[in-house]
Amino acid sequence: MESLIHFGKRHKIFTAMSLRKHGPMGKITDLQTSGIQRLRRFLWGYDISHYRVVVPKEMQTANVCAVTYREGGSIVSFDGKKSESGVDGLITSDCGLFLTTYARDCLVLLGVDLKRGVIFNAHAGWLGLKNRLPTALVSSLLNYGSSLADIHLWIGPTVHWQCYEFLRKDAEKLFPGYGEFVKPHESDEEKIFLDLRGICIRQLLTAGLPMGNISYSTCCTMHNQKLFSHRGGDGSGYNMAFVVGRP
Ligand SMILES: [Zn+2]
Repeated sequence: MESLIHFGKRHKIFTAMSLRKHGPMGKITDLQTSGIQRLRRFLWGYDISHYRVVVPKEMQTANVCAVTYREGGSIVSFDGKKSESGVDGLITSDCGLFLTTYARDCLVLLGVDLKRGVIFNAHAGWLGLKNRLPTALVSSLLNYGSSLADIHLWIGPTVHWQCYEFLRKDAEKLFPGYGEFVKPHESDEEKIFLDLRGICIRQLLTAGLPMGNISYSTCCTMHNQKLFSHRGGDGSGYNMAFVVGRP
């Protein structure tokens, strides 16, 4: 268990996470919306200009792309800004660039390659996990030149498995081979409880990341009143922002 602030200090990178009190962050597809204005205000508090911020066009894909200074101040999609294809993970080696992603119950992954000074983020809900985004993130970092031993990663708050009901037939179809992360429901045979974080960590370990390099928040988004939660009743666009950067 580790907070984002502690993870950032331990690895000498900038990290920040907005809370409910900062207001909903999003929508992500339009730079002019109030969610983006709130993100700007949130970042001004850290003396970060939005021109140094890059946001992925999250669509629960397994697409990860490398970005540079040129993308500062923009939302990036997988193959150019005109495309409709989404991207759910970003990597950069540029100093002064702040990778931002949004989530409420979805998992946020962010971290650093300590040796090469590379930072990255990713965002995955159950669909992103089904599409194996964590696996794609690790292989993208390796393609970018990182070594497994140097990659240190933090997983953000999500819904506790005890609070995350899922249809049994969907879980069996979407996550074959992940039985240990499917827990029986005591009162409804058609439902199970799904351990999203467990599935995510398993995918990271299978991709070769050492367990000692993975840390995570144990907060439940549904039960922590400071956080937004889809399962807890917060609608579309009610997201926290997660920021990682090397000033
Ligand atoms: Zn909970």
